[in-house]
Amino acid sequence: MFAPLALTHVLPFLPLAQDGVDYQVDRRDDPELIRTLLSSDATRVILVQSGRVAIPKGQGRFVDYDVAKIRLTTLAGSYVRDLIPDSMGGDFRSSPHAQCIPIFLGTRAGHSYVALDISEGIIAAEVPNPRNVGADDAFASDGPTRASADARPSILELARTRCDWVGLREFAPHASTVEAGLATTAATLSMWHRAQHYCPYCGAATTSVFSGWAQRCQNAADDNRIIFPRIEPAVITAIVDSQNRLLLQHNSAWKPGFYSVSAGFVEAGENLEHAARREAREETGIEVSDLMYTGSQPWPFPSSLMMSFKGYARDTAIHVDGKETESARWVSRDEFIRALTSGEMLAPGKATIARYMIEEWYGAQF
Ligand SMILES: [Zn+2]
Repeated sequence: MFAPLALTHVLPFLPLAQDGVDYQVDRRDDPELIRTLLSSDATRVILVQSGRVAIPKGQGRFVDYDVAKIRLTTLAGSYVRDLIPDSMGGDFRSSPHAQCIPIFLGTRAGHSYVALDISEGIIAAEVPNPRNVGADDAFASDGPTRASADARPSILELARTRCDWVGLREFAPHASTVEAGLATTAATLSMWHRAQHYCPYCGAATTSVFSGWAQRCQNAADDNRIIFPRIEPAVITAIVDSQNRLLLQHNSAWKPGFYSVSAGFVEAGENLEHAARREAREETGIEVSDLMYTGSQPWPFPSSLMMSFKGYARDTAIHVDGKETESARWVSRDEFIRALTSGEMLAPGKATIARYMIEEWYGAQF
């Protein structure tokens, strides 16, 4: 279960964070793990390509409806087992542009979860009879089950056409916390594997190891070094003044009318509080005194970790640079809700930590 990290944690559970999935890190270095898991129909496989996850066909239109629920397409392990070549051992990518990449996501409630990144690979595999293996409905309607050898459909081709594909921003507000967390891990590692094909130290090709959680450099002279995905820390700060007004800003890169709180990446040599104060000063000219940690959220676009603070302003005189930050203003709760309802101001999306920070200040969802 989700548990707060510290007594100062005031934000609720945030979309995209993990909820109750046991990572079982000690199993990842077993090169046979993926194949073993896919031999069991208790293993659930989710599909990811280029940072988007597969959902049942037709559910994609629900992203525009607040109350609609969306789930992941899940396949039984045996449904995709034949996609994993026998000869590759623990390394599932023999060249930068070949094969799909399986990722062991962990276990929950008796089920193991494997994500299959199909961003690039299209591999022909016979489709088992879905009634025998409990495959997702998306594949059970009229799919050929024993096609002739030369007309055999690829399961990945089926997935591409029989699923809708959505990004995490669209999926998370409509998903269970468990599935949003699984999708976040899968999409994060998927995007990393797709962005990095070569060792950043020696330039040799890499292969996926540790069940998708790392890469190994293929150069023996570089000791076949193991490379882990980088996670980039960022700070985000809700700044209030002595009258509990909130400081909102509009950046030039944002769509017109969109307002949010101060945020930026942690730079070399900084601790979190230095980064939060520096960003506030750079963006709005506001000096922040006390800072309180309020929560964190993985933000895999592509690989950030957002750490949120509440800050108190020493003064209220705003100075923006007019370039990166176009404007900034203090708002009371009444002014804020009036600006929202009139359409003058747009708030951050429902999957974002910024939204939760503003709702915490406002005292209610909006
Ligand atoms: Zn290397």
